[in-house]
Amino acid sequence: MIIVMKPNVGKSEIDHVIEKVEEVGCKAILLEGTNRKVIAAIGDKRDVSPEFWSAIPGVEKAVPILAPYKIASREVKKTDTEIKINDQIIGGNKVSVIAGPCAVESQDQINFIADKVKKAGAIALRGGAFKPRTNPYSFQGLREEGLEYLAKAREATGLAVVTEVLSPEHVKLVSSYVDVLQIGTRNMANFLLLQAVGECKKPVILKRGMSATMDEFLLAGEYILSHGNPNVILCERGIRTFENHTRFTLSLSIVPQLKKLTHLPIIVDPSHGTGVRDLVKPMSKGAIAVGADGLLLEVHPDPEKAFVDGPQTITIEEFENLMTESRAIARAVGRDI
Ligand code: PEP
Ligand code: MN
Repeated sequence: MIIVMKPNVGKSEIDHVIEKVEEVGCKAILLEGTNRKVIAAIGDKRDVSPEFWSAIPGVEKAVPILAPYKIASREVKKTDTEIKINDQIIGGNKVSVIAGPCAVESQDQINFIADKVKKAGAIALRGGAFKPRTNPYSFQGLREEGLEYLAKAREATGLAVVTEVLSPEHVKLVSSYVDVLQIGTRNMANFLLLQAVGECKKPVILKRGMSATMDEFLLAGEYILSHGNPNVILCERGIRTFENHTRFTLSLSIVPQLKKLTHLPIIVDPSHGTGVRDLVKPMSKGAIAVGADGLLLEVHPDPEKAFVDGPQTITIEEFENLMTESRAIARAVGRDI
């Protein structure tokens, strides 16, 4: 149920509604809009009618939430959510580009890339320290050493850093080094991990499971939100289909569809979404044109020598060119990069 408060209600009226919500066995989540406060009553209490809520002082109306996801729903919050990452905002007018290598390989490598992507306009640096590899004999990442290199690259450039967290036990360690936690496609339905990042208040980039439907993706986001973390950024990164000319099928139509259903920011990863270097720029431009709030891109000075995901990784020069061409697309749709 969404309980919409009257304009200019005081704290005591809000506290009273929250108390009532808890009394009927629901969880109360206060969402502060620009001119209206809304309380989402989350729980399976179908017997409490909207009239019960609208009779409480300070309440304007109560509306049942129809979508299976609640806090993520546009029904609950009409305005776009803006997520602060250090001094940058994801989900505002700017298209936010997060770029870097698939894996952190050395201090020199990550510092060099950080400096180049920053100069070209990236707002954050990505780099995997714990890598989820299909093959147990493949490079697994530098682990804590990689986190240290990322933190030093942040010091050197001022860029926020993003890295993947693989297990609930690692949330504390990883979040002590980085600004944004990434949940990978293989972990989208790892509910204990979603809960753990929900309890940690760091912004989270949640990648769509490669076999997940849109509703499952939104419900995974709801796990994080319902455990107390409002800073969820959804990331479309391609799904498995019968098509094999690309590594995955990048489902760009999910972007405008998600925009209708949720207030959360949505970014697109055309590197994993295609698996093909030459397709990264055109699909980045497409993503911006359909309304993505940002891009997640794999960049390396020498992709042939990259430890992980070389075939889908673009060079520094290709990244600079992508940024220039994407800027024109962003402007055409009333945004900036
Ligand atoms: C990555 O970003 O390097 C990664 C492993 O992504 P995904 O989980 O989308 O495969
Ligand atoms: Mn990768």
